[in-house]
Amino acid sequence: DIFLETRNLKKVYPDGTEALKNITLTFNKGELVSIIGPSGAGKSTFLRSINRLNQSSSGEVIFQNEQITNVKGKKLLLVRRQIGMIFQDFNLIKRSTTVRNVLHGRLGYMSSLKGAFGKFSEEDVKEALAILRRVGLEDHAFKRADELSGGQQQRVGIARAIAQKPALILADEPIASLDPSSSSNVMNYLKNISEEDGITTIVNLHQVDVAKRFASRIIGIKAGEVVFDGKPNELNEQR
Ligand code: ADP
Ligand code: ADP
Repeated sequence: DIFLETRNLKKVYPDGTEALKNITLTFNKGELVSIIGPSGAGKSTFLRSINRLNQSSSGEVIFQNEQITNVKGKKLLLVRRQIGMIFQDFNLIKRSTTVRNVLHGRLGYMSSLKGAFGKFSEEDVKEALAILRRVGLEDHAFKRADELSGGQQQRVGIARAIAQKPALILADEPIASLDPSSSSNVMNYLKNISEEDGITTIVNLHQVDVAKRFASRIIGIKAGEVVFDGKPNELNEQR
């Protein structure tokens, strides 16, 4: 049974940059993996090749026993619904309320049909509130996203991702713009949710200490190649 695997994954950008050289990795159900490496190592390109925000140049991505390397159209949308994304800059709809941002995760394209001001059902709102409780934001449910602190906004990002009921969460430098205390807070929520819901979570980080503290497995990437894959306590600083 394959949860997620990449085989000989390569990405060459149009300008010739070899961002991923040959990435073969296996991810298991429920694990919290941190990908670490210097800026420009290929971490972001790797995550984007999995959910296909980026088309890889060659190699394969297998997700829940399915070859998804070249899926298109409706099939690709179905794959993406299984994958929650969390971004460095939160990517919230700033002038929308917290609850509405979360419903964008739960309802996907349906919520875009309802637009920025459409009415959601009471049941939808109830479910969004229950999810917001899980990230400690029930008291901020009807505030605009841009009234929240950075750490709170990223917790909305987490809530929106889990509202999708994903099998996989990909978080690209989720704490890069947060202070240390908000960072720990956000990482704690990610870890708890990953454990409680059995969601495989892959988090790009450039802070090795944070990766060691929260991840069950660390993958080091340098210049588009895997240079480490193991338990946090096996990682020494000679990289
Ligand atoms: P990281 O997330 O580890 O900082 P990236 O995946 O963003 O690394 O980048 C890997 C390499 O690919 C870098 O050399 C970067 O400059 C290059 N790169 C990223 N995006 C593009 C792009 N759209 N076009 C050309 N080169 C890119
Ligand atoms: P709106 O701009 O339509 O008020 P909100 O994002 O504030 O949108 O709210 C989203 C949904 O939650 C709406 O369908 C609205 O009916 C409902 N709602 C708004 N405020 C509350 C509240 N205080 N308690 C429960 N439901 C609310």
